[in-house]
Amino acid sequence: MSFSSLGLTEKLVRATADQGYETPSPIQQQAIPAVLSGRDVMAAAQTGTGKTAGFTLPLLQRLAEKPRAGKGPRVLILAPTRELAAQVHESVEHYSKYLPTASAVVFGGVKINPQMMKLRKGLDVLVATPGRLMDLYGQNAVRFNEVEILVLDEADRMLDMGFIRDIRKILALLPKQRQNLLFSATFSGEIRKLAEGLLNNPVQVEVATRNTTAETIKQTVYPVDQSQKSALLSKLVQQNDWQQVLVFTRTKHGANRLTQKLERDGITAAAIHGNKSQGARTRALSNFKLGEVRVLVATDIAARGLDIKQLPQVVNFELPNVPEDYVHRIGRTGRAGEQGHALSLVSADEGRMLAGIERLIKKQLPRKTVEGFEPSNNLPLKPKAKADPSRARNRSRRPAGGTSAAPGRGRGNGRGQGQGRNQGQSGRRSSPQSARD
Ligand code: AMP
Repeated sequence: MSFSSLGLTEKLVRATADQGYETPSPIQQQAIPAVLSGRDVMAAAQTGTGKTAGFTLPLLQRLAEKPRAGKGPRVLILAPTRELAAQVHESVEHYSKYLPTASAVVFGGVKINPQMMKLRKGLDVLVATPGRLMDLYGQNAVRFNEVEILVLDEADRMLDMGFIRDIRKILALLPKQRQNLLFSATFSGEIRKLAEGLLNNPVQVEVATRNTTAETIKQTVYPVDQSQKSALLSKLVQQNDWQQVLVFTRTKHGANRLTQKLERDGITAAAIHGNKSQGARTRALSNFKLGEVRVLVATDIAARGLDIKQLPQVVNFELPNVPEDYVHRIGRTGRAGEQGHALSLVSADEGRMLAGIERLIKKQLPRKTVEGFEPSNNLPLKPKAKADPSRARNRSRRPAGGTSAAPGRGRGNGRGQGQGRNQGQSGRRSSPQSARD
């Protein structure tokens, strides 16, 4: 199987060779012919599968079949975060290097005027975050009447981040006759509803089984008290001489605080999250890639779409509110057959989240206690029996002893594991509004 046997022209094949790709990835094998045929596509694929080339290569070929008549854009690619938009645009530039295609990227958090100038010049491909795109539309800086192909990348995350209204507005402005490509890591009811209204008889593409974790990833849970987590992390980094670790926190504040603590322990660290300027985020990421920063601390939303190859270690400093995010997070390690290690520092109040994750991935994760960091409450050993999550939430509001995470054999200091019930586990993802572009 080669890129040319999928129907791509020589100029695009040469661009993939320049990137060092030898064979198309599974998602590319399925998506490229489907997009080339002009069909709508609904693809279940996460970052790391090669999905970006899967839609970009064939859409560039379709554009090359005839020249642009007006100012464009002819292809609109919507992405949830600045990082993902910038990375997708970078891919568009790489793959179109032997073609006359013009492209641009627009996102929030930076000046709007230079983006308006670029749009005025005319372009074929526009990569955008929904919020900034609507701002530009409101200022008459972009028109949609020439859009031939629409791509929604990481559609699930766009909905989670509250972009559905912007997306619906944009859809209503597009020409009815067009090709639609929808990429999403997960397919919730909401995504399926969006897909139904958007896609016309789509080709369905699915590669990795959803909610499974790669066998090449070793996963370990470190039970530890919340107050000891940063000291334990410093110890693990130093003791194992880790040089490149991606650490996930639930909040932006948490990311900042942890970065400071690591720095105090003599470990170079940088935080990446929605409150940081675009410049600071780009700098943090490139310093991390260059090996100048050992620990990159990120929130889920900021980390989404980060393309960091072959990370040896990923640490969950806090477990995610949504179990599926655990699978995304640890997918950052053990890529392409490499052995990776995903560690989770779990305090007793996160017992219920851990149980949710273990239910989702259908396995019990091994626990490892570190001497000097023994938790005052043990974590439950077995995932809780299957339960309707909405009902579980209702139950947890009952005042006495009804939470799942009671340790049974814990030493108990009066701070039961049921503490977790007041800690915002509403099932919604955190701070969508502030992270919007
Ligand atoms: P994506 O899932 O689109 O974020 O891509 C993940 C990474 O895989 C990127 O660094 C791509 O450059 C790389 N990649 C994409 N396609 C291939 C391929 N066919 N062979 C090797 N690497 C690839």
